[in-house]
Amino acid sequence: MHDYYQTLGVSKTATQDEIKKAYRKLAHQHHPDKAGGDEAKFKEISQAYSVLGNEEKKKQYDQLGHAVFSQSGGNSANGFNWNDFTRQYGSGHFQDFTVNFDDIGDVFGDFFGFGRGGRGGARTSKGSDMRMMLDLHFMEAVFGVDKTVVVERHESCSRCHGTSLEPGTELRTCYRCAGNGKITANQQTFLGTFQTIQSCPDCRGNGRVAEHPCSVCKGRGIEKKRAEIKVSIPAGIDDGETVRLSGQGEAGEQGADHGDLYITVRVKKHTLFVREGTTIRSEVVARFTTAVLGGKIDIPTLDGTAVLKIPAGTPSGKVFRLKEKGVPDVHGRGRGDHLVTFHVEVPTKISKKARKLLDDLKAEGV
Ligand SMILES: [Zn+2]
Ligand SMILES: [Zn+2]
Repeated sequence: MHDYYQTLGVSKTATQDEIKKAYRKLAHQHHPDKAGGDEAKFKEISQAYSVLGNEEKKKQYDQLGHAVFSQSGGNSANGFNWNDFTRQYGSGHFQDFTVNFDDIGDVFGDFFGFGRGGRGGARTSKGSDMRMMLDLHFMEAVFGVDKTVVVERHESCSRCHGTSLEPGTELRTCYRCAGNGKITANQQTFLGTFQTIQSCPDCRGNGRVAEHPCSVCKGRGIEKKRAEIKVSIPAGIDDGETVRLSGQGEAGEQGADHGDLYITVRVKKHTLFVREGTTIRSEVVARFTTAVLGGKIDIPTLDGTAVLKIPAGTPSGKVFRLKEKGVPDVHGRGRGDHLVTFHVEVPTKISKKARKLLDDLKAEGV
């Protein structure tokens, strides 16, 4: 039985660099996916490297001896388990081994294709979501409004209805993958040529392709169209809020579902009303006499003109609360209030008669 140094063909004083180099050379030579490869041999050298290629493990190996590390048989707790090795390689840890991934990654990364993102295309997937802005008038946002928006989006092809087939023709088995949806590709690496399994690019993993692809969409099953979409904007929506229209985004290829359409509203300001959530604020300016004697003033509200009763002796700055005259809650939980701030107007131009009356009032001590 060889010890790990013999397996890798290095001396006990070999540096990590030399061990790595030796492993690469042997892995290259014996990789099982390679013509003339030798799986048993490859496992053996990989096991040796998983120990010697790690400073800590190497030290233990030197101290405790080969026997401790070679209780192989695949599944022993301390042994080298090839299945775990390959299965867990990508996840960054082994069960019992502490392996220096930077080193091993150099060697394995290339032929396992980790981190390349090129693991074959997915099957036909849902269409993309779309986003758009919609301008609303102040009152449209307060009370809700039905709108029609126009979007350019992909929809199911009008000729093939998303089947991607020219009408009257059928799907046939993909020649390239013989209906498996997967192909074996050769990959060139510094270790040589290896085989990898990929999703078939001709049929996108479906195993079947159109003999005669639709002449309008060229087999994609979708075409760009102008769509008019009705959208019901809920009462109480506020500036910057978004309505989601499920299934109104782009159609997916070959009959896959649509994505969603997100409509974000921009609400214009109002000249009289200021909105704070469901609360409306406005101001009213009244004559001095109204403040002193009391009276009634017409004021604008969201629901139209209303009459505000001013009690005698109302000070400037007083806030009147009109209950439930504010903005409807967007979730239907009632309406907010309307707060009206009362201001007293001080006249700058007055008639002679008015001046006389005010002089009298002044003499009265008012
Ligand atoms: Zn078509
Ligand atoms: Zn195929």
